[in-house]
Amino acid sequence: MRLQDKIQRITTVVFDVDGVLSDGKITYDIHGVEYKSFHVRDGHRIKLLHRVGYHTGIITGRHSPVVAHRAKELEIKMLYQGAIDKLAVYEQMKNEYQLVDEQIAYIGDDIIDIPVLRRAGLAACVPDAIEDVRREVDIITQCRGGEGAAGEFIERILQEAGHWPIIMERYWR
Ligand SMILES: [Mg+2]
Repeated sequence: MRLQDKIQRITTVVFDVDGVLSDGKITYDIHGVEYKSFHVRDGHRIKLLHRVGYHTGIITGRHSPVVAHRAKELEIKMLYQGAIDKLAVYEQMKNEYQLVDEQIAYIGDDIIDIPVLRRAGLAACVPDAIEDVRREVDIITQCRGGEGAAGEFIERILQEAGHWPIIMERYWR
């Protein structure tokens, strides 16, 4: 199927966290409290997705309060943390939200993401993902995780689906 046809069917964009929404680094303070950094442009693009009617989600293998905070801030409704078996969680998400594979775009970075990347209607990964991951995706971003990869993926979806000019209208003034 053509990439544009795949993109036209997408209603829901789902993100891995570590290595995609973040650079993959996990920082601890002396109390064991975890820190991650997120890119402001990724957040803004997620808001743009919502503005034109897309749904968003997170499936992450780890469990972190900072992720819950970021998801809440960005109004990401489907939040699945501690997803050791990402495929099982992905199927659970499909059931809960009445979704089919063709509606879901997913971006990941590591081997744990492969089963989901193989099923999602549109699959993407970051540029430094290993070859086994890169083989399974439709799009490899130029930006690295935590440096705008998610935003780049979102822009591609919004452009191919024809939403971009409508979004940009309010800024061309
Ligand atoms: Mg990851």
